Amino acid sequence: TMEIGEKQLPFLDVLVQKNNTLLTTDVFYKSTDTHQYLDFRSSHPSHTKRNIPYCLARRICTIVSDQETRDERLVELNIFLKSQNYPDGLIGNGIRRARQIPRNELLAPKVKQTASEKIPFVTTYIPCHPNMVEVAKTNLPILHQSQKMRELIRPEDILSSKRQPNNLKKILTRARYSVKKKSDFTVSRCGDSRCGTCDYMSEGNQFVLKNGRTIIPNANMNCKSKNLIYCITCAGCSESYIGQTGNALCERTRVHRQQIRCAETRQIPLSGHIDECGRGSFTIYPFNKMTEENCMKRLNKERRLIEIFQPRLNK
Ligand SMILES: [Zn+2]
Ligand SMILES: [Zn+2]
Repeated sequence: TMEIGEKQLPFLDVLVQKNNTLLTTDVFYKSTDTHQYLDFRSSHPSHTKRNIPYCLARRICTIVSDQETRDERLVELNIFLKSQNYPDGLIGNGIRRARQIPRNELLAPKVKQTASEKIPFVTTYIPCHPNMVEVAKTNLPILHQSQKMRELIRPEDILSSKRQPNNLKKILTRARYSVKKKSDFTVSRCGDSRCGTCDYMSEGNQFVLKNGRTIIPNANMNCKSKNLIYCITCAGCSESYIGQTGNALCERTRVHRQQIRCAETRQIPLSGHIDECGRGSFTIYPFNKMTEENCMKRLNKERRLIEIFQPRLNK
């Protein structure tokens, strides 16, 4: 986005304001910012959470140039953190520590010290587990029986690092979707000896159209399934037609067969096509079971699926 302003301009998390010939800076929060900092009750290593009030306060003290505004921002911060369940003492302490640092010190560029070759000791953070790094360190003498190991692994080089454990969000959601999702559902014949649809059913967990598109069923279905979208494929040219029905698939198939057999009953060009091109022969594959019984929604779904799969015989 581009921001234009005569008096003020946000840049990253800084709001630069122009007062005559003077520039002042303030913290900038996007209008969508809900200030949902990590909840203090969240399962994270204690030091991570205990550092947050100080870090946020320090950031405010660094950015805000006017003292009065700074104190207002710190009062706000206090409210934000309280609503995330941080203890009063911890918030107060963090803010006090940050305020004590002179601003020119805060603004001075940090000189990065080159860290020696640290060895991260990575474990998953599980609150009820003991501190594994300490356990490992007490066992270092075993490793240090080797001269080489003694030189390579010095206790002060071991850096404790915590990996986040699985939380509900990670368990319930997925960041990546696989494009070719294998279907868990399948289409099958009902097996009833009197069923007139079984012979026409195309079975399996997918159906590939002549144009190469793959149809994947969203539920287990057979001839008796109701309220669904199906695909009919001509045995002659292998082109398809997508249709919908609120009734059982076998009843709908019976109507299709009837209309293919006698020309007077025909309502759609498909019937004539299958009669001539397919010599009355076709396969049917139900693939989209509707979740609710609503004719309008089913018709809309049918239209959308026709747009997606572009079956030739609907035209
Ligand atoms: Zn059947
Ligand atoms: Zn055909």
